[in-house]
Amino acid sequence: MRTEDDQWGITESVGVTALGVASGRAMETHRDDGLVHDPFAEAFVYAAADEIRLPARPEDVDELAADTQDAAAAGWREQSAYVGVRSRFFDEFLTAAVADGVRQVVLLAAGLDTRAQRLAWPEGTVVFEVDQTGVLDFKDEVLAEQEATDAGGGARRVEVRVDLRHDWPAAVRAAGFDPSRPTAWIAEGLLPYLPAQAEVDLFDRIGELSAPGSRIAVEHFGDAVADLWREDDSALASLSRRFGVDIRELFFADDRPDAARRLDALGWTVTGSSAVELAEAYGRPLDPSLGELHAAVRLLEARH
Ligand code: SAM
Repeated sequence: MRTEDDQWGITESVGVTALGVASGRAMETHRDDGLVHDPFAEAFVYAAADEIRLPARPEDVDELAADTQDAAAAGWREQSAYVGVRSRFFDEFLTAAVADGVRQVVLLAAGLDTRAQRLAWPEGTVVFEVDQTGVLDFKDEVLAEQEATDAGGGARRVEVRVDLRHDWPAAVRAAGFDPSRPTAWIAEGLLPYLPAQAEVDLFDRIGELSAPGSRIAVEHFGDAVADLWREDDSALASLSRRFGVDIRELFFADDRPDAARRLDALGWTVTGSSAVELAEAYGRPLDPSLGELHAAVRLLEARH
């Protein structure tokens, strides 16, 4: 159960979801037709394996399913396909932003995202990674072992340890964020973990910090997810079994404005696709067992 001001390490509460995404990226990286190649994802998964055992390779899934006797564990392969689609969408968004001249990037709820290392950044790009202290501490430990704490190319990586329910704009400004420069923001796997008011504030604050030419990409769990969430045999329940943590207990259930309409009302020009449409466009249709969930999830892009 969530509380108003809860904090976590990587193997606790919402922290586990960052590991889950790393697991998906690691699995996807092992596919010949993978939509993302993350050379660090596997190291994160294995570094936490004493406390939480998640798969990083195809053979891990078979072992996990055999050990836990849980048929749902076998579904990790399918779930990693969605992580691949989502990662590719945000990778393409950021690559296009820097190609158009944006040099300031903010990864909100960065978790174990290694885009700072993975993507080809032009000289002078600054990549801010915002997340809770416990998550970024774990990330740094593993990246230090991999000798990969620095950003690739000509970029600078700046971590900002702050709770996104607190005064995070002050923290990013103190870390060197410049609101007069156009910014590319991403919110990937974040919104359901915020209470409604924090989500409303998040978009308001992003708007205030966004110079003309800024853009944002958001993963938005549509209204349909709230219904799926209440059903015991829903895709989210099955996903939770795979995960070993009931994801539904990590979400804040309070009603909130639709993210696309909210961005539109704040003056952004919004476009978007459902995860299912995007997967088809990438030539990697998603597993039908999670179809309802993936049809409800939207990947939005908006320009200021
Ligand atoms: N964006 C990353 C990715 O896709 O790999 C991580 C996604 S993970 C599902 C959710 C992340 O949101 C976790 O790293 C968690 O710590 C972060 N998060 C959730 N609520 C937060 C909050 N209130 N403040 C800071 N970080 C938060």
